[in-house]
Amino acid sequence: MAFELPALPYEKDALAPHISANTLGFHYGKHHQGYVNKLNAAAEADSSIAGKSLEDLVRTAEGGVFNNAAQIWNHTCYWNSMSPDGGGEPTGKIAEAIKASFGSFSDFKDQFSKTAAGHFGSGWAFLVKDGDRLAIVGEHDAGNPLRDGKTPLLTCDVWEHAYYLDYQNARPKYIEAWWNLVNWKFAESNLG
Ligand code: MN
Repeated sequence: MAFELPALPYEKDALAPHISANTLGFHYGKHHQGYVNKLNAAAEADSSIAGKSLEDLVRTAEGGVFNNAAQIWNHTCYWNSMSPDGGGEPTGKIAEAIKASFGSFSDFKDQFSKTAAGHFGSGWAFLVKDGDRLAIVGEHDAGNPLRDGKTPLLTCDVWEHAYYLDYQNARPKYIEAWWNLVNWKFAESNLG
């Protein structure tokens, strides 16, 4: 069975003005689709890949198969980490978990922004559940916290292709805009 590009959870212009339809069009339609196409090409050449779930490949594959599988997984997590109705401060269980692990929402936001803005090169900033605590993890390239037994709750893509059309090299401006979109309901649903 071929790996598929999951549908975007909103229209391509739904995140504007924070992330433009132009950025989403390339990011989803070219980059995310490209990882799906490359993994399917690898699966056609090696039936042991085709027999595994995407999450299995993220947890256990190496090299190019891992890179493409994890980039598919990470991008789906990223789309779901944003919503046109997102942003603001979280409430409920996720708000309590953030407060318990980081002291306050504001401290969490500062630390997450620093990890995302300060990450050298291509990668991801994740909020994860690690045992009883939440933590912020920076991952390089296609890195994914599932490999270290951590549960991703939400993620921010800091590859240049995520923001260059809208913000050029100003990654901190993109991250500031990203906070207006954060889907706290998705993060809470991943708490389990
Ligand atoms: Mn990306």
